[in-house]
Amino acid sequence: MHLDMDTFFVSVERLLDPSLTGRPVIVGGAPYQRGVVAGCSREARVFGVRSGMPLRRAYELCPRAVFIPPNYIHYAEYSERVAELLAEAAPVCEKASVDEFYLDLSGCSRAIADEESWCSRLKREIVGTLRLPLTYGLARNKLVAKVATSVGKRLGDLRVPDGTERAFLAPHAVRVLPGVGDVMERELTAMGIRCIGDIARMNRRLFTHMYGVVGRTLHEHACGVDETPIVPYRRRKSVGAECTFAEDVLEPRTILGALRDLTARVAGDLRRRRFLTRTLTFKLRYADFVTVTKTAHCDYTGMDHVLYRLAERCFCEVYTRRVRVRLVGVSVSDLIEDYSQLPLFRGDEERLVRLYRSIDEVRRRFGSGAVTYGSVLEGRRCGDPAVSP
Ligand SMILES: [Mg+2]
Repeated sequence: MHLDMDTFFVSVERLLDPSLTGRPVIVGGAPYQRGVVAGCSREARVFGVRSGMPLRRAYELCPRAVFIPPNYIHYAEYSERVAELLAEAAPVCEKASVDEFYLDLSGCSRAIADEESWCSRLKREIVGTLRLPLTYGLARNKLVAKVATSVGKRLGDLRVPDGTERAFLAPHAVRVLPGVGDVMERELTAMGIRCIGDIARMNRRLFTHMYGVVGRTLHEHACGVDETPIVPYRRRKSVGAECTFAEDVLEPRTILGALRDLTARVAGDLRRRRFLTRTLTFKLRYADFVTVTKTAHCDYTGMDHVLYRLAERCFCEVYTRRVRVRLVGVSVSDLIEDYSQLPLFRGDEERLVRLYRSIDEVRRRFGSGAVTYGSVLEGRRCGDPAVSP
């Protein structure tokens, strides 16, 4: 089963502001901004507006549309809620993108007697619980199920019966197949190949000869063959780091230097995995092994300095005894995926995103110690921590 949320960003915006219902809506930013359309409603599509199109062009096509800046935090939260409902319903659920999922129903014949009614019940449950519309396709493999969904956007949810995959795909345009972009579509058209059936009818060897491995896969796909497995999605719950001092320390400045280092590592880890967090837990263990923790919240972030400020605040609140400190740790939870893109940030925030990108790039190329904070180095120069990872 392949599920795709209908005009996902717009649907979420309409949940938050019902007055948008029935109106042409374009998510991406103001019409005079440089960005592109991230999502648009059916009412805007009628005028020719499409995702990925410059906002200015969208404005020319549909000036009376409501233009909204994207709120990726909300989209990621709703995406997570859909994923949770699906994971409860089926044994294997893959999250293919922010608004697209695969469920593996093979081997479920005991639990699911009638797949079609099971799927439509699941859809009713999601639509009823979250009030977000979706379309699904049901087929023997991922490729055909996905095409069934995109055809179903116009015709309603579809099931492609086993053994009819090739016939089902044949009349559709070649660009429906994954891997066929503008260039290849033009080349194929020049050879008189327009629909998927034209590829399926060709000799596979000849096609492989023309396009190599890509060509072979494309020919298999055109014949309705796809053996890509469904990869179960496991949500990462938390990310953390801690350090034990080589010698127990009393000096707050040394401890704060270590926190600078830890929060930078945790934030770097978040950015690499493309996550954001809003909850930080700080842990401190005294030399006598008494351990205290403190949790603090902020708006979703993946930036060192925001996490550092939270950690520093927690430290100041819980560091109350005049006893040496053995260990400090920082972990973050309440993670959501980060779907945002650089051009969507404005002003200072854009500069910060650029700064952290550059830092990450330097560290990737020259090692994690290539860029660090003065306070981290200062702690080391004092000879205190010789922090162990
Ligand atoms: Mg969608």
